[in-house]
Amino acid sequence: MSLPVSFEFFPPKTPEGAEKLRAVRQQLYAQQPQFCSVTYGAGGSTQEGTFAAVREILAEGVDAASHFSCIGATRASVRQQLAELKAMGVKRLVALRGDLPSGYGLGGEFHYASDLVAFIRAETGDDFHIEVAAYPEMHPQARSMDADLQAFAAKARAGADSAITQYFFNADAYSRFVDEARGLGLDIPIVPGIMPITGSTQLMRFSDACGAEIPRWIRLRLQGFGDDAASIRAFGLDVVAALCEQLVRAGAPGLHFYTMNQSAATLAICQRLGW
Ligand code: FAD
Repeated sequence: MSLPVSFEFFPPKTPEGAEKLRAVRQQLYAQQPQFCSVTYGAGGSTQEGTFAAVREILAEGVDAASHFSCIGATRASVRQQLAELKAMGVKRLVALRGDLPSGYGLGGEFHYASDLVAFIRAETGDDFHIEVAAYPEMHPQARSMDADLQAFAAKARAGADSAITQYFFNADAYSRFVDEARGLGLDIPIVPGIMPITGSTQLMRFSDACGAEIPRWIRLRLQGFGDDAASIRAFGLDVVAALCEQLVRAGAPGLHFYTMNQSAATLAICQRLGW
């Protein structure tokens, strides 16, 4: 049985990147995604590229979610962007706090994603389906697991419709997080974010920064493959497809793939799952 899938892209920086992404999307559309989302550089740095990619996805007949980060933003700027997104026909947002590069002060009129969710609801009612981020292994800046769960609860109570998790390789962390959220009376769908493994160095750097744990046995295997890209990809496919199978068995309501603007690894996982 296949579950709803969604695919995440980042806005391409060059015309060549945009062209390549069009081809990648066409390949992924074979999986009939529920929606495709486009990330948004904190501070609005990618607004133009994000909105352009979102427009293209909508024009291709696929539901598109614009990520939307509020750090450094003002109410007036958010209001104006919401109006623009609505005029574009966007019906789905991934509402985030975002991370500013170090050196920037917090600034802005929003402190947390829950402030943004509440603002979007107050300003636009039910015009948008609002997704928020969830962290089964805890957001790296949170004081504690419990404080982070409360932060998640605040986003759900402010009006989020569903959640997408940070990627992880420990299925138990996901199940535990979902159980604890349900224990607080939060019933919104919590969709696991899936990171295909296609390389080693970047994955390790990225995971350290975002607080996703790479289990020791996976880390050691990856290190053991050295520069052997084919072996890394084959191993990555085994590991991530097995993780997805576990998540399906655990009752995940869908899977959200961090495609990194590539189709091959994501499609290979879907194929392995028989989807
Ligand atoms: P929040 O939910 O606001 O949480 C941020 C931190 O503050 C957490 O540690 C939380 O525990 C704490 N906190 C929250 N509320 C309170 C409170 N009331 N009191 C005290 N502490 C509190 N980043 C981008 O820049 N662009 C993107 O497009 C993007 N897409 C993402 C998509 C997904 C699915 C995920 C999981 C992450 C994405 N990110 C993106 C990364 C995200 O912006 C960072 O993880 C950011 O640091 C936190 O954003 P948030 O929305 O989870 O913040």
